[in-house]
Order: sequence, then C-alpha cells, then structure tokens
Amino acid sequence: MGIENIDVVYPVGRLDRSLLVVGGNKQMYELMGEFIYSPLYKLVLEKDVEKLKAAVSRCDMQWESQSGSHEDVEECIHIINEAGQYDTYIVILRKVRDFAGYEIELQNISENIRQIEQIGGQVNMLRDYLTVSGNALFSYRPFDGWFNLFWLDYEQQVEICDMPFDQWRENVIREGQVSETDLEAFERFCQSVKDAEREQTHTFRGSILTWGKDEDTYRVKFLPRTYIDRKRTLGVWSIINEQTGNRVDDYVQGNYLDSMTKTLNKKGITDYAEAAVARGSGVAVIMMDIDNFKNVNDTYGHLFGDEVITAVADVIKKVIGKNGVAGRVGGDEFMVILDNAEDELTLRNYLRGIKTNVRALFSEKLGESKITCSMGVSRRGVDSDNFRELYQIADKALYLAKEKGKNRYVIYKAELHGSLRPSEGDGDSTDIKEAFFSEKDLSAFNRSLGGLVLKGSGEISEVLEQLAHVLTTPRILVFWGEDRKMIGAYPLALMANEQKVSFFEKEEYIKLFHNDMLQVVNVHNLEYTMPEAYQLYRKNNVCGFLQYYLRDDEGSIKGFVTLEECSQSRGFPSRLTVQIFESMCKVINAVLLREEAEKKKALDN
Ligand code: GH3
Ligand code: MG
Repeated sequence: MGIENIDVVYPVGRLDRSLLVVGGNKQMYELMGEFIYSPLYKLVLEKDVEKLKAAVSRCDMQWESQSGSHEDVEECIHIINEAGQYDTYIVILRKVRDFAGYEIELQNISENIRQIEQIGGQVNMLRDYLTVSGNALFSYRPFDGWFNLFWLDYEQQVEICDMPFDQWRENVIREGQVSETDLEAFERFCQSVKDAEREQTHTFRGSILTWGKDEDTYRVKFLPRTYIDRKRTLGVWSIINEQTGNRVDDYVQGNYLDSMTKTLNKKGITDYAEAAVARGSGVAVIMMDIDNFKNVNDTYGHLFGDEVITAVADVIKKVIGKNGVAGRVGGDEFMVILDNAEDELTLRNYLRGIKTNVRALFSEKLGESKITCSMGVSRRGVDSDNFRELYQIADKALYLAKEKGKNRYVIYKAELHGSLRPSEGDGDSTDIKEAFFSEKDLSAFNRSLGGLVLKGSGEISEVLEQLAHVLTTPRILVFWGEDRKMIGAYPLALMANEQKVSFFEKEEYIKLFHNDMLQVVNVHNLEYTMPEAYQLYRKNNVCGFLQYYLRDDEGSIKGFVTLEECSQSRGFPSRLTVQIFESMCKVINAVLLREEAEKKKALDN
C-alpha cells in the first residue's frame, strides 16, 4: 500500500536521507509549499534542527541494531506555517524496508486540540510541554474546568493530578499543602488561572509537588492559549531556591532520582506510589529483584554489575513506557507502579515483557548464564487500597517467586496464595509459608487427587504429602476401618507408630464437630473439656488441628483424618485451608467406600 493512500489528515511522506520529500500525501505537499525541493530542515525552527537530526540518527541506530524491534522515533519540533508562525509538531520517523530514507508523519499539535486527543491525547501534548522547561507543568481547560498537573523527572512524566480545578484547589488546601502564610497568594493564583487573561507569574510556598512532604517556594508562570476556538491555560511550575531566588534545576535529580539508573530513588517512587494508590484504581505494585546478582558481581566485577543494574532499569522503563513509573529501591531491587493494570492480561504482558527482555541482556557476554529476575505483584482494588499493604503483599509475592525457583513473576491471588493481611504495626511477623500457597504445589496436589480417584487408596499417602506441601503442615494422618487402622500418613514414617485413639469417637468429642469438621486453633482449649485428648496432643507437641470424620453410606463413623499443626505462631487456618482439607477428606472417603463396595461385591460373587 502506498503511503499516499493512507487516510490521514496530517502530512505523511517519504523523505530521503537528507529529509527531502520524495513522495507524500496532499497535506505533505501543502506543508512544504514552495520549499518542496528543500529538505524538511528548512522549515524547522532553528533550535529544533539538532533535535530533528538526533531523531534521524536514533532512527538509523535502531534500524541497524538488529534488535528485531523497530519502533517509531518521535520528536517534538516546531515548523513554520504560511503565516510565518511556528506550529508545534510531533514528528514520527520510521525506517521501511527497501527504502534508504524515512517514512515521516507530522502531527500538528498546536493547531487542532481535538485531533491531539484522538491520536494519543495527553502523551502528545506533553511533548509540547516538554519544550518548555520547569519542574512541573499544568494545563487548565476553562470550558470544562479540568486541570492537569504534571511533575517531570526528565525521564518519565509523573502525573500528580487529573481532576476538576476546584476539586484540586480544595484538596490542596484541605491537605495543608499550601503554607498558611501564603493561602491568600494561592487563592489569587487560582482565581487568575481561571480568569486567564494574560501571561502572569505567581509565587507561593507549599508542598504540592511532594505530596505534602517537603515545602518549597514555587514560582508559577502561565499563559492563556487558544486552540481552534478552545482556550487553555498552560503553565510552568518552578521551585525556587530560597537563598538565590533562582530556579532549582536539579531539584528532582537530587531528591528523587537514582543517579545511576535514572529511575526514581526509593523516596521518589514511594512518594509517587502512595499518591498513585490513593488516587485511583487499576494500579499494580511490582517488586522486582535481579536473581543471583551476587554471582554476577563475583564473576564479572562490580563495574559490570552496575552496567547490569542500569540495563535492567532501561528494560523496565522501555517495557512500561508511559504506563508506569519505576524506581530503584535497593541494590538490585526495583519497584514499579503500573497504571491501567486492572486487566490481568495486560498486566501479564508487561511482566512477561520485563522478564524476557531482562533475560536477553548481555547474552553474548554471558552465554548460558543469563541475567534473570523475579517479580511479585499486588493490585489496588483487588488486594488492598492501602499502599503499605500493597507493598508488603508484593514483597511477599516476590519472596514466593524466589522460593519457587526465580526467573518468574507471581501475581498475588488470595484464592491461590491464601488470605494475607499484613500484620498491623509490627512490620513483618507474618510467615510467608502460611500466607501463600504455591501454584506449583497446588497443581501437584490436584494431580495427586486425580491419581487417588483413578488408582485407589494406595495413593492416599501421596495425596497427604502433596497437601502437606501446599499447606506447609507437619503432619496429616488417616484412620479407617473397624479397628481404625492408620492407612495413610505424612510423614510416611508415622505409619509405624501405633496410636491408640479411643477418645476420638466419644459422645462429647463428636459433639464438637460441625458437619463432620472440627477445627481447634489452640489445644489448650481442650485442657478441661477433653483432658484425654489434650494429653495426647500435648505429648505430640500439637498446637492446633483440623479433623474430619469419614463415614459409610449409612452415616456411621468409619474413621477420620487429622491434620496437625505444631507451631503456636501459625494462627487460624484460612477458610481456603479448611476447604481444601475438607475436599480432600471427601475424596478419600468416597474412594475408600468405593473400594469396600468392590471388595464386598467380589466376596459376594
Ligand atoms: P537473589 O536471587 O536471592 O536475589 O540473590 P542475590 O544474589 O541477587 O542476592 P541479593 O539480592 O540479596 O543481593 C544483592 C547484591 O547486590 C548485594 C550487593 O553485593 C549487590 N549490590 C548492591 N548494590 C549494588 C550496586 O550498586 N552495584 C553493584 N554492582 N552491586 C550491588
Ligand atoms: Mg537479587
């Protein structure tokens, strides 16, 4: 398909290596006008010429890098129009096969704001903003009162707010993010943004850019702009050094950026994450750690180690693009906050993207010993609405990913990994083993249950062993038949022990069961009511247990299953633990009854 046929309203064309138009749509020829025999550079604002040249060589480099993925190169430049004024354009460059030049699209973003919204909304407009410099940028739309405030960290754009202006103003005042003494100045600023008659500058102190943490003096400059017939107020937000009165250019750099990887540092990413989580749904928290990084350092030296950390950071930035923000929170550890991650498939795509691209790093140098990473993920709105909790959950999911063998990601799921309420206050006392069920263990358990149904009661001990892995339980026993013989045990060695279990079917003991299930979290509760049972459990160091009665078709007790817990700190088993245990008992019961029926039938014949 010739590019002439592409139905677009903006100029598209093929330009040779010197950016001379060799073909294009009508808009392209209109744009070039009398300069159609000159390179595009001729029409570009002088200070943007170098930018455009750099974009061209980026495009060449990408093409030559043989990485297989050739993405469009985008740059924001200004091009003169018929009236002799400069319009802001996003220029998109790409290489095409069998053509020495470039395919170029030019999207005019200062002419048609509606068109911008169609072709990518904010992202493109931000590019426009980026040509202005400052610590933060904002836009206000008088026609619907909408306000966007962006905080830029040179590498990634960080959105602070996207809401009606009045709501933002109220929030800022309510949260005390404007210095008491400057409230009036702030109100004046707000009023003039809304009036937006002419260019002006306001100064006030506040902690708006640091989410209420550190206070700075802001100088906010804005000017009204008109796009078609829609007005906008565009502004630049600078932080002023109180001593010198100059703009603090390296503010972000110094306070929020990790200088090695150019991602946010721990403070930067945590502050950002707190705000992002507080703001809305769809946010995912990813904790990521490079696997066996000490080996990399030991084998290839620290300098190469640093290179690896930087390359990993670049992979993360590249994969998440504008959909998230990354920060380095430890030596080889990163936190990534993803927006719009409510769709699990999308989320998995990002995770897979990070995982595979990290694995591909330095492949020539490293050969078979690849750089890999592990990730743990929690989701706002699914796991918690509180950043601290989301962080703890993601961190534990990361731990689990490491435990399961590294080079993988674990998206925390209550239904798979057990309910996890990070302990209040005291940090980290929750035992990971109790908080998560491993997916791998669960599927092995399910397979063993299948084996039990197919092959019969000989498989019981295998099933118990798999369940013990899932629940990380030290002991599970099955008793069955007239003499209540132990017919299955984990650990297997317990089969040799003869346990006399007379009390298990005493009337007062049976009364403790609900629907054949008994759950005792603390055996001390039995000390006076069931001293006999209490003695036995104490002797065996049992702290708590789950029990299930096995019955025959008539409903008489035929045996029982007991799952014993030996750690005081394990606490209450989750509902899911109880359900898995109960399901397993029912399958065991059914298999045992089936075998008895078969035996009986064989005898009858
Ligand atoms: P695991 O798979 O369990 O994560 O094992 P690991 O070897 O990666 O262990 P861990 O994450 O605990 O170790 C991180 C190591 O990273 C420890 C430290 O020597 C190294 N490290 C920390 N900061 C830097 C750094 O800035 N540069 C380099 N080269 N190494 C660092
Ligand atoms: Mg590590």
